[in-house]
Amino acid sequence: MRKRTRLEVEGVVQGVGFRPFVWRLATSLDLAGFARNTGRGVTIEVEGSPRRLRAFHRRLTAEAPPLSRIQTVKVSELAPVGEEGFRIVESAASGRATALIPPDVATCDDCLRELFDAHDPRHRYPFINCTNCGPRYTIIRAVPYDRSNTTMRPFALCGSCESEYRDPANRRYHAEPLACPRCGPKLSLVNARGEAISSDDPIRGARTLLLAGRIVAIKGLGGFHLACDARSDDAVRRLRQRKLREEKPFAVMSADLEEIRSYAHVSSEEASLLTSPERPIVLLEKRLPNGISREVAPRSRFFGAMLPYTPIHALLFDDGPTLVMTSGNLTDEPIAIDNAEARKRLADVADAFLEGSRDIFLSNDDSVARVFRGKPLILRRSRGYVPRPVTLAADGEDLLAVGAHLKNVVALVKGKDAFLSQHIGDLETAESLAAFKRTITHLAQTLEVAPRLVACDLHPDYFSTRYARSLALPVVEVQHHHAHIAAVIAEKRIEGKVLGIALDGTGYGSDGTIWGGEFLVCDLAGLERVGHLEVVKLPGGDASIKHPNRTALAYLHASFGTDLPQGLALAERMDAGELRTVLEMLDKNVRCIPTSSCGRLFDAVSAVLGVADHASYEGQPAIELEGIADLDASSAYETPIAEKNGMLVLRTTELFKHALLDHLRGEQAPAVSARFHRGLAAGLARAAKELSARLGLKHVALSGGCMQNTTLLGMLLDALEGSGLAVSYPEQLPPNDGGIALGQAAVARARQA
Ligand code: ZN
Ligand code: ZN
Ligand code: FE
Repeated sequence: MRKRTRLEVEGVVQGVGFRPFVWRLATSLDLAGFARNTGRGVTIEVEGSPRRLRAFHRRLTAEAPPLSRIQTVKVSELAPVGEEGFRIVESAASGRATALIPPDVATCDDCLRELFDAHDPRHRYPFINCTNCGPRYTIIRAVPYDRSNTTMRPFALCGSCESEYRDPANRRYHAEPLACPRCGPKLSLVNARGEAISSDDPIRGARTLLLAGRIVAIKGLGGFHLACDARSDDAVRRLRQRKLREEKPFAVMSADLEEIRSYAHVSSEEASLLTSPERPIVLLEKRLPNGISREVAPRSRFFGAMLPYTPIHALLFDDGPTLVMTSGNLTDEPIAIDNAEARKRLADVADAFLEGSRDIFLSNDDSVARVFRGKPLILRRSRGYVPRPVTLAADGEDLLAVGAHLKNVVALVKGKDAFLSQHIGDLETAESLAAFKRTITHLAQTLEVAPRLVACDLHPDYFSTRYARSLALPVVEVQHHHAHIAAVIAEKRIEGKVLGIALDGTGYGSDGTIWGGEFLVCDLAGLERVGHLEVVKLPGGDASIKHPNRTALAYLHASFGTDLPQGLALAERMDAGELRTVLEMLDKNVRCIPTSSCGRLFDAVSAVLGVADHASYEGQPAIELEGIADLDASSAYETPIAEKNGMLVLRTTELFKHALLDHLRGEQAPAVSARFHRGLAAGLARAAKELSARLGLKHVALSGGCMQNTTLLGMLLDALEGSGLAVSYPEQLPPNDGGIALGQAAVARARQA
């Protein structure tokens, strides 16, 4: 008896070798029928014995290609037509395109084998790829996703590539970026004027320069990297000076796990994150001593390490040393993607440029993650993850969410799918504003989303807010911390109200003051502020972010007025004039902005202990304070809770005072840091339990940039354990402002409904 079944498969099933997989599976089971790409995914009809059809259905999801993501399979029964053989049918474009664009993927093992096989036609070919690997998102100009709509368009396939492309049994069947040394893009090594640097092979030439201590700009998947020998103090120091980057750690890339293990501790979970197809930068505890220059990650406990993910990297690193691989930009600018543009912008930074003739259409920075409690915690979600969607609980109108000001990421939502963009960066330079607009336009086109409304931050002066208002669309303004918590609600599909704890640096509050340590009762539709960290006056407002000493003075002033305690190293360190001016500002309350920011609390403690008295990059004082914490030091400081205007207030000036007094008694900073972290976590947990009990809430959601501090997050989770409260925090998305767009989108949807 024969039966015929139609399977409509939705998800990431185009450009990932799905149809050839279906062809092989059907053929091996001796089933007849066809597979065809549609606007929504792949439609399959198979005909044969019921037992084999069942096997087909089971193995379709169980054995799907590594890069595919099946969201749904709709099955319907048809009458058998007596078809013979299985075919792949060319797509008939119709209806609304919802097929998903795949992310860029690290070179697969099969391609690596060919790359190093002297008998393979693609031996040492730096642009080798197949349907299981290679560039996708960064080369797609338009949909549908076929070669003519990518930056591979100028490269006409040669005869042998063409036959691989047409053969369903081949690993390169319909691999759109397919290429070989005869027909594909080429690599060259040039100087800033674009003149060739002579060498027998551009990669070997680049390696020679790197080993001689030079800085080389290398074109990767989503943009240029700046590379230098990570063992050389001189080279790394020169890179810092030229890139205008003082102390922020550089990422490194090594040939393999074994090499990474020589300078950092790697758990099995960290190893699988490092080797995943997404290949993020993974934060790893340093090994001491290690052979890496101190200049790579000064004052940090971690190295951010990654493995090669393009054939160029694989060739460059074959037995090579660990290299610094940092974004090819000057500090605060977006990553360079175009050859000519890179040579111009990085002329004073790089000694040479290893550039490929395959264009990058859209920039995409390396993603950053760490392992927390055995699971990945994403800190920057970009290359490898983007544009895989986050699935929302409910359908609704198409919309655009423009994100926040720092670490900007935008989101386009279509149906239930929320597509978060790559990391765009801080919206502070003309280049990043241009990248922001370009990304929105491109995503809207390729995903075929026509936004009916736009969501933005409540801050009236953010560039993103002004942009949102400039569109002829209804605008939904979403409070910053509400968006942080809403992102968790959306990611975890939490139903009902939660108690949100949002801890970060800065966000515009519903009352016009600066928030940053908030207890919010919220669902997607709305928020109510029910508690916060104690409000202190920040001298000079946001300017104090760059001057943690001044923030420390604000906390000191709250306890001691202008009469500072004796023997304060901070007071001796500061310029006497500056000290006087700041105290006067605080005393007279001029140019002071009140804030409940948790980030500023960390700044103040870090500065008063002398851990970090300056911030050369965002979050530096807090990161370094966490970095030194000695968790073997016992006890915790007390954080009293007060009640004010119907809200719980965590008396963080008292917490600060405990840390200060311990410090003045001569206690070492690592012990003070641990007690401070524990005291803060205990205070937050106590307030959370109290508020949940009063308000009848069962679920706590944690988010905000301070949750990147896994010491704090871990202590908070411990302290909430056994309370009977469910606790969630972001996992697929960063807890920092890189996840805000999802929250904005979810809130806008809920308000429209
Ligand atoms: Zn491959
Ligand atoms: Zn070819
Ligand atoms: Fe934030």
